[in-house]
Amino acid sequence: MKITFLGTGTSFGVPRLGCSCKVCTSPDPKDFRNRSSVFIIGDNGERILIDAGPEFRLQALKAHITGLDAVCITHVHADHVHGLDDVRPFTREKPLPLFISKHEYRELMQKFDYVFNYHQQGGGLPKLKPEIITAPVAVGTVTITPLPVLHGLRPILGFRLNDFVYITDCSEIPESTQALCRGANVLVLDGLRHRPHPTHFTIEQALSIAKILKPERCFITHLCHDLLHTEIEAFCQEQNLPFYAGPAYDGLVIEI
Ligand SMILES: [Zn+2]
Ligand SMILES: [Zn+2]
Ligand SMILES: [Zn+2]
Repeated sequence: MKITFLGTGTSFGVPRLGCSCKVCTSPDPKDFRNRSSVFIIGDNGERILIDAGPEFRLQALKAHITGLDAVCITHVHADHVHGLDDVRPFTREKPLPLFISKHEYRELMQKFDYVFNYHQQGGGLPKLKPEIITAPVAVGTVTITPLPVLHGLRPILGFRLNDFVYITDCSEIPESTQALCRGANVLVLDGLRHRPHPTHFTIEQALSIAKILKPERCFITHLCHDLLHTEIEAFCQEQNLPFYAGPAYDGLVIEI
């Protein structure tokens, strides 16, 4: 499998509008963080997107995405779905399966009323085939397992795709979900910043979860503008973990 990080930033994105801090004005391209999303290509060429934030179209152009076989939605906060309409060109031939939890789908239908409630005749609509995911499903060689986690008080989903675990926007991973994450090669976790936040892990919290789950590699995502890429990298190294840990960045490609 090949994984491309399309975006690794928090809901504001980095640079944050109107901010002139050292991260928002950093010349290092790794400090430019679009809203969080990943694109996975399976061993048989299956093309799977997790979340479609406001920059999806530009991210897809940059990553040369030319088609999709499935979309997984973690939750429907604006930074994760408001680019969803832009999957439209990839739904012309057949409806695109969209894996989502039941309550997030209810809210997605309100946000995209014109898509799901069929008011409009004719073109201009992405053809999506929503599938409520509560158990593993196969897309070709890729098994997609939903991972229930808490984002503050909100129950949302992370996803495991074979040996790749992606958990963004998370402040608690229940034991039952931790069991589903074990044995993964790559673990991606929300780690907003050092300062505590009610709905996101700090970088320290993410690394302590990683210590329990013991992946081969752990990448931190959904990063805000508190820290430079190089600072997070140095912090992760100082922890002397028995596995690789470091910040993800936009455009990072990893293979499993
Ligand atoms: Zn988010
Ligand atoms: Zn800033
Ligand atoms: Zn969120």
